[in-house]
Amino acid sequence: MSITDIFTVDIALRTGQNNTHESYLYSHLTGDKIHGVVTVRSHSDVQVDGIEVSFIGEERTILQTGKAHRQFQDIKVLIDEAQLPPGKLFKERHKYHFGFTFEVPDHLSPDVCNHKITSPAIRLAHLRPPPSFGDPSVSGFGGKLKDDYAPPTCRILYTIQATLFRNIPVIDRWNILLVHRIKLRVKPAVDEWPTLDLMSSMNDYCLETDRAIVDSRSKEEYGQLTVALEPPKGFRLPLRDPHSLISNTVNLFLHYRVTGGQSDLPQLQSFRGQIIATTFYTASHYEDVPTKKKDFFGRPKNYCETPFPPFAYSIASLDWAALDDNCYVATLLVPVTLPRLNFIPSFHTCLTSRVYSLDLRLVVPGAAPFHLKAPVHIYAERDPSALPSYIATVGIDA
Ligand SMILES: [Zn+2]
Repeated sequence: MSITDIFTVDIALRTGQNNTHESYLYSHLTGDKIHGVVTVRSHSDVQVDGIEVSFIGEERTILQTGKAHRQFQDIKVLIDEAQLPPGKLFKERHKYHFGFTFEVPDHLSPDVCNHKITSPAIRLAHLRPPPSFGDPSVSGFGGKLKDDYAPPTCRILYTIQATLFRNIPVIDRWNILLVHRIKLRVKPAVDEWPTLDLMSSMNDYCLETDRAIVDSRSKEEYGQLTVALEPPKGFRLPLRDPHSLISNTVNLFLHYRVTGGQSDLPQLQSFRGQIIATTFYTASHYEDVPTKKKDFFGRPKNYCETPFPPFAYSIASLDWAALDDNCYVATLLVPVTLPRLNFIPSFHTCLTSRVYSLDLRLVVPGAAPFHLKAPVHIYAERDPSALPSYIATVGIDA
């Protein structure tokens, strides 16, 4: 007879929309209280010396060169002995209920990231709880399961785990009788920090492009056009997955210097843009902001890119202002709206990073297309009423 024939263990979370038990469809935010009940049913009279409930966070990565697993959170609660039945004897056909409460922490325990780093900002980022990532059975938005565009090589999983122990008096050790776990979706707050990516000039970002404007037939040069993209402000995901549109404005500065014969000032023929999600993964750890690595054939080695649906922007004409006889400037304010999809906020852990970029392509008659690419930070609003407790913050046993 196996141990699962003796016990049935269930974990039910009360934290859910409308207090339902469909907690995997609920996004648990920073500071949220996760209330639940462990129900133990015994099919014969058995002694259980202890019950521990844990709130576990772990991540996995798989690369061609190896794989890694790391537990970054393990908050434990031991059920008070006074709540166990008399003599710790679980009687046949009885049901026993044990309540527990966890809080979604704002910081991880400092000992879960102690590798070498190149700047304190990396450590700070690695010590923030990452969002659930890459598990289709919990990934979602509001009450729906929805793709989070994680590659199959990365997974970040949160679980509530109940462990039943039996004491072995001879060696005075607790032996695990049974472990039961359920998954849940966690979406912690992410603050509006500047994108870490801007600190490094890697990852093919391009904030400024110069092009000669030439006559299409004679190839005679009319002038030099510079387009500069201001690094966009972050996109803020509001609390609790509402279906509102999330927009931002990006600023482009155009500078035109006349170098040749008389011609009209340049105008835009088309303007297209796209948000691209990049997920980085390693089997060791990131000391710095991750950078793209490619194999001999130019295929990604340590990252995966997901382009979101492109958008187009049309303007009637550029509003040029003269700086002097030869120079003209114009400014473009372009609204950018995130598609209504399950955007996971930007995050960095020891093994995994999710970052975003905004790619723009401008076509000006007489010049090669202008490609611009800036890192974009997507952050998740913090519930101001939910201040994380010290215990939840440092992850010590309650
Ligand atoms: Zn780390």
